[in-house]
Amino acid sequence: SRAQLFEKGTKVNVTFQDVAGLDEAKVEVMEIVDFLKNPKKYTALGGKIPKGALLVGPPGTGKTLLAKAMAGEAQVPFFSISGSDFVELFVGVGASRVRDLFKQAREKAPCIIFIDEIDAIGRARGRNAIVSNDERENTLNQLLVEMDGFGGDTGIIILAATNRPDVLDSALLRPGRFDRQISIDRPDVKGRQQIFNVHLKAIKISETLDIHKLAEQTPGFAGADIANVCNEAALIAARKGKAAVDMSDFQDAIDRVIGGLEKKHKLIS
Ligand code: ATP
Repeated sequence: SRAQLFEKGTKVNVTFQDVAGLDEAKVEVMEIVDFLKNPKKYTALGGKIPKGALLVGPPGTGKTLLAKAMAGEAQVPFFSISGSDFVELFVGVGASRVRDLFKQAREKAPCIIFIDEIDAIGRARGRNAIVSNDERENTLNQLLVEMDGFGGDTGIIILAATNRPDVLDSALLRPGRFDRQISIDRPDVKGRQQIFNVHLKAIKISETLDIHKLAEQTPGFAGADIANVCNEAALIAARKGKAAVDMSDFQDAIDRVIGGLEKKHKLIS
């Protein structure tokens, strides 16, 4: 609902086990998890703990999932907000939302703040945007002010997701802000098989299901597409009154998801 734009520091049960593949990204984020768990270990030697990291990658590849898993692993509250939420807001509201978010986060530190689609507010200033530029700039400026307003030892880590790091305002990428970039790529065949394995856990599958073949038949699929395939396959099999989901159901589901992706692509281009 509009009334509650962000999840208010909720506890999460997601862990790295729920995130398939993304091995390199996981190594990088584990370091950040350790900052949250043992801040003194790092500050003792005079080091400054980073405040933010940018998760960069195409839609549906698990950026939100990974951010949640970091909160789950560190056992800290998770605040999330989407940059596009600000786009629909009235004048003056964006900046106060940012202020409110950070106020709550400070009260619950250590914690993680996740800003999805940061490009919606973080585009380089002075370019065209959907919202009036003034409003978007005010929101962005408030975000910069908040990020500068606490020390690295406060225990707040800000993660932001984007698939367009190139359009971001350079002020966001300066040291002490989002100075680390972690890339989240579309999965290769091995990664897709691992993602299938995660999502098949919840589904009654036939013994003859060939998971490797499913991974081979889904080039270009993001994790979200694979989750979608698994769910569609289960629904297709159920409609047919089957006791378990088999290869033909998955084939139909893959066709359906490919059809959906093509439609989406046509709408965009
Ligand atoms: P967007 O940029 O569109 O917000 P995102 O990169 O944040 O996308 P998520 O929202 O994390 O993607 O992924 C959507 C869903 O897809 C997840 O909740 C999960 O079910 C599935 N998924 C995506 N990537 C993975 C993965 N690596 N392992 C397991 N499941 C995944």
